[in-house]
Amino acid sequence: MANWPRHVVMIAGGVGGARMAEGLTRALPEGALSVIANIGDDEEFYGLRVCPDIDTLIYTLSDRIDRKQGWGVADDTVKALDILATLGAPAWMKLGDADFGLHIWRSWRLAAGDGLTEITREAARRLGARAAVLPASDDRLRTKLLTQEGWMDFQPWFVGRRCEPPVRALRYDGADSAAASPAALAAIAAADLIVFAPSNPLLSIEPILAIAGLRQAIATAHVPRIGVSPLIGGKAVKGPLARMMTGLGLGTSAAGVAERYHGLIDGFVLDAADAHESEALLARGLSVLATDILMRDPADAQRLGAELLAWASHGRKRKAAS
Ligand code: GDP
Ligand code: CA
Repeated sequence: MANWPRHVVMIAGGVGGARMAEGLTRALPEGALSVIANIGDDEEFYGLRVCPDIDTLIYTLSDRIDRKQGWGVADDTVKALDILATLGAPAWMKLGDADFGLHIWRSWRLAAGDGLTEITREAARRLGARAAVLPASDDRLRTKLLTQEGWMDFQPWFVGRRCEPPVRALRYDGADSAAASPAALAAIAAADLIVFAPSNPLLSIEPILAIAGLRQAIATAHVPRIGVSPLIGGKAVKGPLARMMTGLGLGTSAAGVAERYHGLIDGFVLDAADAHESEALLARGLSVLATDILMRDPADAQRLGAELLAWASHGRKRKAAS
C-alpha cells in the first residue's frame, strides 16, 4: 500500500506488547518495526540481570515463546532452578534453563562494560527476533509499588506475591536521572507511526514515559500516535490492570486508559464491545477505531495489526490533507 507506514515505533511491555509486536511485524515489511521496551520490571537474581519485558518481546518475535504462558521459552526445563532451591536459594522467580542462558550472557556482557541497548540488539539479532527491541534506557529504572506492607520491589510483588497486595501508589525509581536511549530517540525521530501497545499503562508504558526525553519526543512527534486498549469490557485480557486501576480510583474503562496518554496520542483503538465509549474519546479530539482487539493467536494479531495500519494510513492521509 502506497501510504503504509515504513517506520513504526511501538512503546511496549511484555505479553500484551509482544502480541501486538508480532501482529505488526507480520503485517509490515521486514525491518519496519522498532519496539521501545519497558525496563522498570528488570531485576537481579543470583547476580544475573533479568529483563522480563525485553525477553518476552525477543522470545515472541523469534517464535521461542511459551505461548500458553505468554512468557518464558517453550519446552524449557527448570534444572538450574531446582538446584538453586536445593542449595537454599530463593526460587520463586520462575527462570527456565534456556532463559538462564540469556541472563548469563547479558550479565557477562554488562560486566564487560557493554550497554543494555547494544546487548539487547545483539540478542535480538542472534536469536532471530523479527523487530528491533530497544530498551527505553541503558540506565537503571525500577518500578516500585506502595502497598499496605510499604514500598515493594516489582518482581516480589508481581511474581512473589502474585499481584495480591493492593497498590496504593507507584513510583519509577531512577526515571529522573535515566537518559533516554539514543537508539529509541532515533527510532522515534524516524517513525511515521507511533503505537502504544495494549500493555499495562501503569506498569509497562508509564515507566517509559517517566523518562523525560522519551515523553518529550513522543509529545512533539508530528506523526499519528495511536493507543490500543489492554482492557476489554472493563477487564484485562490477562494480569492485574483492572484491579489496579480500580484500586487507584481510575475506573476500568478503555477511555480511562486513553486518558493516561493525554497529549501523547491522536487516536485510540478499543474493542467493539466498548464502542459506546467512542463518543467520549471523539469529544476529546481523538480518532477512534472500534474493532476486535483480542489477539487469540499470531494470525489474529496480524489481523489486528493490519487493521490498525490501514486505519493509521487513512489518518495519515487526512492529516497530510488538512
Ligand atoms: P507484561 O509486561 O507481561 O505484564 O505485559 P504488558 O504490560 O505488555 O501487557 C499486559 C496487558 O496486555 C494486560 O493488561 C492485558 O489486558 C493486555 N493484553 C494481553 N493480551 C491481549 C490481547 O490479545 N489484546 C489486548 N487488547 N490486550 C491484551
Ligand atoms: Ca512487564
